[in-house]
Amino acid sequence: MNSAREAAAAVVDPEIRVITIEDLGILRSVEVDPGTGRVVVTITPTYTGCPAMDVIRADIRRALAVAGHPDAEVRTVHSPAWSTDWITDAGRAKLASAGIAPPAPVRRDGVVPLTLAVRCPRCGSPDTEQLSRFGSTACKALWRCRACSEPFDHVKAL
Ligand SMILES: [Zn+2]
Repeated sequence: MNSAREAAAAVVDPEIRVITIEDLGILRSVEVDPGTGRVVVTITPTYTGCPAMDVIRADIRRALAVAGHPDAEVRTVHSPAWSTDWITDAGRAKLASAGIAPPAPVRRDGVVPLTLAVRCPRCGSPDTEQLSRFGSTACKALWRCRACSEPFDHVKAL
C-alpha cells in the first residue's frame, strides 16, 4: 500500500514538470477497494478542461503498474472543487525556484484576488504586469517584471 501511495504521489504534472500531483493537491487518496482488491487512486481535476488530466491519469496507472499494481483504477471526484489554495508549501517553493510565480491565496468571500500580489520569481519585485492571459499553457498566464524586464509564467489563482 505504501508503495502504491508513493508511486502515485511521485507522478509529476505534465505541464509544470517540476511539481508532483501531491504538491498540486490533486491527489485525494490511494486506497484498496475491499471488494476487488484493486488499488484505487482518487484525484480532483485542476482547471476545468485542462487536457493534462488525461495524461495524469495515464501516468498514474503507469506508475502503479511499475510499483506492482497493474490493475489500478483512477477515479475522479469534482467535489469539493480543487483550488490553487490546495497547492502545498513545498509545491509553491518548487514553482518559485523554477521561475514560475505561484498563485496568490484566493479569498473565499467572492472577492477577486488582487493581481498586484504577483511578484517576480526572479527578483521578487511586485512591479509586474500581465502580458497575456495565456502563457505556455492555458493554466498559466504570461507576466513580465518591470524591475528586471524578465517575462515569467504565473499559475493563475483559482
Ligand atoms: Zn524581476
